[in-house]
Amino acid sequence: MNTKRLTLLLAAGSTAAIGGAAFSLRTVDKSTSSLFATANTGVAYAQAPATASPEAIKLKANEIGRIPIIMYHSVDEKGGKYDKRGLNIPGTAFRKHLDMMVKAGWYPMNARDIYIPEKLQAVPAGMTPVVLTFDDARGSQFWMKPDGSIAPNCILGILESYHKKYGEKWPRAGTFFALPKSSYNPTPFWQAGLEAKKCQWLVANGYELSNHSFAHKNMAPMNAAQVREAVWGCVRDIRKLAPNATMDTFCVPYGSYPKDKSTWGVILNDPQGQYKNLVAFKAWGDESFAPGDKRFNPKEVDRIGVDPGYFEHVFARLEKAGKLYVSDGNPSTMTVPKSWQDFVSPNRPGKLPVVFYGQAATPKAKAKTKPATAAKKKTAATVAKTMKHP
Ligand SMILES: [Zn+2]
Repeated sequence: MNTKRLTLLLAAGSTAAIGGAAFSLRTVDKSTSSLFATANTGVAYAQAPATASPEAIKLKANEIGRIPIIMYHSVDEKGGKYDKRGLNIPGTAFRKHLDMMVKAGWYPMNARDIYIPEKLQAVPAGMTPVVLTFDDARGSQFWMKPDGSIAPNCILGILESYHKKYGEKWPRAGTFFALPKSSYNPTPFWQAGLEAKKCQWLVANGYELSNHSFAHKNMAPMNAAQVREAVWGCVRDIRKLAPNATMDTFCVPYGSYPKDKSTWGVILNDPQGQYKNLVAFKAWGDESFAPGDKRFNPKEVDRIGVDPGYFEHVFARLEKAGKLYVSDGNPSTMTVPKSWQDFVSPNRPGKLPVVFYGQAATPKAKAKTKPATAAKKKTAATVAKTMKHP
């Protein structure tokens, strides 16, 4: 967040802009349901008020701005043997990322909540949604001590400590892409006998437990039936451990999609009706498109890797460019800078009315809002090199 935004947030105070019971997601869901009943009837944005509210303009709200979705695997595993691809990073690096996010007014959400309009619209004014994802159900993500408490230095222990410290500014959120069993995780989160307890704890405490396939097999050579089994097998077996797991977002193993593109639809929708995924996630990309941006593609949603220095690089670039999603704090409208109006999706979830402000984009500025293709090429090359990662 730029300084102006931060100052405004601080000036607005913790109850009005950031914290307080009014912004507990659950409370907002209930209180906004009537607003959504109206908004969801498909009001065209031309009918919305012509300009955004002065508050939203001051906050530089942009509700089709980019949403960072970060891909983590483990912290402090292997006795400090860290991975240059970011698959195992020091706990200190993870904490540093969280500190940067908190300071900048980033607001953690479960992956699925980004694609549910009521949840995304409940992001407090001036804040930027961020999704932290954790792949492979590794031990350092969730370690239980013999007394049943959460080890303070595993990923979940660290997230819990941030929630305790920052409260509503840092709600409990994070998406754990689990596998029932693979060569990388003999059992989810590695402590045999505790897997059901851990999976249920996550679901009961507001975290997202979701789908990373049945056995982490490379999907490139799969046909439709095999794709279906890879997706369904995970839903089926993780629900045996945690019956209430939502299991409706999917993370493609190795970021390696089936070569036969006609099977990609099966990742999102089961022809036999047993599962439905809101989105499928890639690996080693850049910031993702918001669901209200017409370039958003639910079959291929980018995630940012954490090879050393990369998160810091993307963070600085996004904050500087002012490309991030920033909430206007109003659940019934989407506020968008005029320079972004060409990107507003007519099929945006919830079909909320859009209000604009500022100047229309000049051709030069329009060119600037394209994704960072150079960085994309670099990360695509990294993916090719690292196909063997778990
Ligand atoms: Zn994986």
